[in-house]
Amino acid sequence: MDNKKIEEILEEMWIQREKGSFSLERLISSTQEKITQNDILEIEKAGYIKKGKALTVGRQVSVKFSEKGEILASQVIRGHRLAERLMTDVLAISPHQIESNACNFEHIIHHELADAICTLLGHPKECPHGRSIPLGSCCAKANSNLESVVMPLSKLFAGSRSKVAYITSTHYHRLDRLASLGILPGAEIILHQTKPSYVLQVGHTQIALDGDILKDIYVRKLV
Ligand SMILES: [Zn+2]
Ligand SMILES: [Zn+2]
Repeated sequence: MDNKKIEEILEEMWIQREKGSFSLERLISSTQEKITQNDILEIEKAGYIKKGKALTVGRQVSVKFSEKGEILASQVIRGHRLAERLMTDVLAISPHQIESNACNFEHIIHHELADAICTLLGHPKECPHGRSIPLGSCCAKANSNLESVVMPLSKLFAGSRSKVAYITSTHYHRLDRLASLGILPGAEIILHQTKPSYVLQVGHTQIALDGDILKDIYVRKLV
């Protein structure tokens, strides 16, 4: 089995785990990747997954990542979701158009390249579909966003002008509130003040906002 196939199976497992639990049966019946019993045996032999015991007859067999499998799966998922962010934030392709394109990127985007894209995009936490992006080594030391083209609004200096790229969707009630203030993708923001509190201007309106909220607003700096 080639690496791409292994990565695709691990990726599918990761997504199923995110949605709840995953089992061998569900994995094999996932039509998209056409996974067979044999494939599962092979990746188990290669040490990427561990199978649990079926406790009673007819009960679903559970599968788990081995440590090695967990690492590879998280890298592939990270590459995929960063590629999606790159396409929506930098290349301005709409989220529903990108799914099939990103499908092959994750097999190319590994390690250093993923970290470079992550840094460029300001270490995003979510893909455009709202699924979380596994952290890379770059994210831990992300104190400086000097090399980023997209970054959280909270990282800008007072006096900076920027344009909203996207807002992370972890707090839905906030999205509504921000939208009602005119803080939407494409909106231009002037950050007037960062201390003692954040004051920004959208259109003709000046707004004071919590620093925590600014961390969710990803912007592109204007010069
Ligand atoms: Zn996505
Ligand atoms: Zn990062």
